[in-house]
Amino acid sequence: MNMALVINKTRLVLIQGDITQQATDAIVNAANSGLMGGGGVDGAIHRAGGPVIMEECRRIREKIGRLPAGRAVITTGGRLKAKYVIHTVGPVWHGGRSDEAETLVSAYRESLKLAVEKGLKSISFPAISTGAYGYPLERAARIALATAMDFARGDDSLQEIRFVLYDSYSYQVYADTMRELTPKPEG
Ligand code: ADP
Repeated sequence: MNMALVINKTRLVLIQGDITQQATDAIVNAANSGLMGGGGVDGAIHRAGGPVIMEECRRIREKIGRLPAGRAVITTGGRLKAKYVIHTVGPVWHGGRSDEAETLVSAYRESLKLAVEKGLKSISFPAISTGAYGYPLERAARIALATAMDFARGDDSLQEIRFVLYDSYSYQVYADTMRELTPKPEG
């Protein structure tokens, strides 16, 4: 099942599946500040893409130190179908009073900006921060979609922003949220 929404020249697409299998120009990794791999989607991306991704992460780490939450960097996609991996760090959920929403908006925006700067046309996102980092899924879905919609209104260079939801419940929450955020025709 697929759901889509077109804004400007950008298609926002929801699919249920595995982000490591996506053939978009870039896929986004929900990394941690150490950039040294981890569980969840991070582990899956490094396993599927092979060791060159980690080597590049290590070099970035040597150059800039830890990657703060809300920022993004780009590496090769290694063996992945996607040519690039954009590594961003989402916020850890602490109850909602520690700028978690602003940080999550920033993680999406910085990733989208990096894709545009690189001249990429398509990008896939996982549901950043909604696994080990504990961000409530409904709120995270609203931020993911609203931030992408806002970005597409201001910049028409991306053809597709894809949201890849691993399980059917997450897909359903994103689909409901997309319907809520879609302006309804008058009448
Ligand atoms: P975080 O630490 O940012 O919370 P996680 O990797 O723990 O990151 O989880 C983020 C989301 O990614 C969760 O919704 C999880 O179900 C999902 N996820 C895990 N593996 C994959 C995958 N291979 N493809 C897409 N999404 C995945």
